[in-house]
This record gives sequence, C-alpha cells and structure tokens, in this order.
Amino acid sequence: MISKRKKYNGYKSFSYLEAGKDYKEFKLAKEVGRVKSSVIPLSKKEEERVESIFEKYLSISMHEHLLVFPDDPNDTMEYLRRSRQAIGYEGVAASGVDVVFEALNDGVAIAKSPDAWAWENVVHQIGMFNSDLDHQDFAFLARRVEDLQRAHDNGQAALVIHLESAPHMGTEYDKVDVLYGLGVRVMGIVYSEGNEYASGIANKNDFGLTDRGYDLVERMNKLGMSIDISHAGEKASLEIIEASKKPVFCTHAGAKALWPSRRMKPDEIIKALAEKEGIIGVEAAPHTTLTMKNRTHSIESIMEHFVYIEKLVGINYIGFGPDTLFGDHVALHHAFAKELSIGTAFRANLPEFQEVPYVDGLENPSEYPNIVRWLVKHGYSDQEISKVIGQNALRVIKKTWCK
Ligand SMILES: [Zn+2]
Repeated sequence: MISKRKKYNGYKSFSYLEAGKDYKEFKLAKEVGRVKSSVIPLSKKEEERVESIFEKYLSISMHEHLLVFPDDPNDTMEYLRRSRQAIGYEGVAASGVDVVFEALNDGVAIAKSPDAWAWENVVHQIGMFNSDLDHQDFAFLARRVEDLQRAHDNGQAALVIHLESAPHMGTEYDKVDVLYGLGVRVMGIVYSEGNEYASGIANKNDFGLTDRGYDLVERMNKLGMSIDISHAGEKASLEIIEASKKPVFCTHAGAKALWPSRRMKPDEIIKALAEKEGIIGVEAAPHTTLTMKNRTHSIESIMEHFVYIEKLVGINYIGFGPDTLFGDHVALHHAFAKELSIGTAFRANLPEFQEVPYVDGLENPSEYPNIVRWLVKHGYSDQEISKVIGQNALRVIKKTWCK
C-alpha cells in the first residue's frame, strides 16, 4: 500500500526504454509484501499517532539499498553484471519516508571492472541511477539541505547518494569534487577490505587512517560531504572522528557490547562519535544486529541495540540505517558472502545464532514505519521519535553540507 502522503504514479525503472530491445528484462521481486513480515500491532489511537508523526516530522532513513533484485536469485549475478538496477519507487512510496540515503549496489557493482570500487564502476552506477531518477517525478536527487523538507512538504522522496566507500582515486582528490558534482553527499572512507585511505573492519591489521586518508577527510570536510565510518576499522573509526572538523555519521551498525561481530561498534567509538555531535544509525541487514539474548534476527533484536545505544549516549545521537533492499537479501548474502563482509572471517568466533530466511519486522525499505510503531508501543514521546527518525540526522547534515 502506498502511503497516502506520497504522490507516486506507478512509474517503473527504465520504462523510458524498450524492454527486450534496449535491455534484458528480468522478472523482479515484489517490492511490498514479498514475505509475511510482522507488523507491530497497535490500537487505533496508536495507529493515528504513528500517522501524525510521519505527517508532522521529517523522516530520514540513513542507509538503504533501494534497488530491486530479480525474483529468482539465480538471475542476480547476471542482473548485477549488466548494471541496470531498478529503483524500488513503489516501496519507497509505501514507506512514507521523506529522505533516504541510497547506497546503490556497493561491493557488487561489477559492470565495468571486477573491482567493485573502481572509479568507472562507481561513476557508471551513479549515472545510471540519476538517469532513471530524471525520468519520473516522485523521487528526486537531494543536493541541498532545503531539498529534504521539500520532499516532505510535496509528497515526494529525496534520495541522497551515499557511497559506502571512497572509490580508488589515489591522490587525485579533485575526483571527490567530481563525486560531489554527481550528487554524492555521504561517503565512507573505506569498505570492509580496507583501502589506501584507511583500514576496514575485515583487516586483521587495523592500520588506521593513512596520510592519504587524512587528506581525503580534509577534502570531504571542505566540500561539505558527510563522512561515514560504518565499514572502517576500529582504529580508523576513532581517527576519522578525531580528524574530521565536522560531525561524522556511522550510518549502519550496532553495539558490539550486545553482539561481538566486527560489523558492530564498541562503546568507545559510539561515545567518541556522539561527543563530536555525530550519530549512529541502527542496522537491520540479515544476521547483523543480533544480541546474546536474542539470537534470531528480528525487529526485537534490532531495537535492543537501539535501547542500549540510547542509554549509552542519549536520544540525540542515534537514528536508523536499516540497510535493507527489495528481494531475497539472505540469498544475496550467500551468493556474495565474501564481497558483502559476511564471509567466514565475519562468522568466525561469533556465538551460535539461528539463521532466518528474512528479518521479521524489517525486511525491506517499505517496512520503516514498523520502527515508529515499535517506539510508540514502547512509550517513546513524539519529540523523542522525531529526533531518531530524522531530526538528529538533519542536524548532522546541516553542520556538514554546504547551504
Ligand atoms: Zn554496509
């Protein structure tokens, strides 16, 4: 169901071309209701409160992959290789969320080079994304702070291009300006495997931020591009927070104190982030935000991370970056175990947990309102909810982006 606040007219990606003639068509996964994911049950009065919160306040999802995957996971590899990925406009409209940080197809963009973070891969996918975006008028590319509220007021969605890592650029820092010009407003310094700028969470040797990494942070600060530390190693994360003159995002992670995985952040990093006015988004990709108490991944274990972090640093330094997509996310993880940072290195030394076919209660980007339902059900005030679903992220954006 499309949120009644959103003006979506049914546009499907690339319908400006001829399917079968101009590009190979794949049967795509259903964007809404693909699986039987639970909806937090509420009374009529609570339902109305959820609706009024979305109506009144700006909502920002700090990390999603809005691409729609093929219905048959066996088609995934070829679909990605062709690098013509559909955007789930229907799912975004169903969520009712105003602003989404769109992480494109990080780590699996292999059209132009087998190296996911090759410059030509990254530029290709941004261009393809922008081309499709410019053929419809529900969603638009967010370039300035004022665009975000406009999406809320006009029943649209503002999509923020968000790269999980800097592509390989060597010392050609002018390329960061080029990315900015293409619309990139949030970027990680590094993905899990590490690069010339910083160590990633998969590196055995956490070598921190390199000299080039310091230069990159400085250029991003000057340009007004937000920095993300989600996939940076622990030493690198602390050094990035320290080096940045502006608040930093950790768009999608959780608390390592609750689940000892490399994808989670220790208290020390979460506190350092908050001390410099940055924020952390709670992650929901399959089998990430588990807890020792709750080893079957669902919205309940995800919200355990929220509650823990909120107690640790307060309500002003937390938000949500669900990191979901449209299609079978678990099948995708199996197919790309190495590239997606959930391979053996990440499973090693983790406590036993129950593998799930999907994350019940937060399976795809259209289910974002379930977070608000959970918060309403658990007694959070409208003001608190407005902060974690948008105002906190907006504060960081205002301090980072150029006006
Ligand atoms: Zn990620």
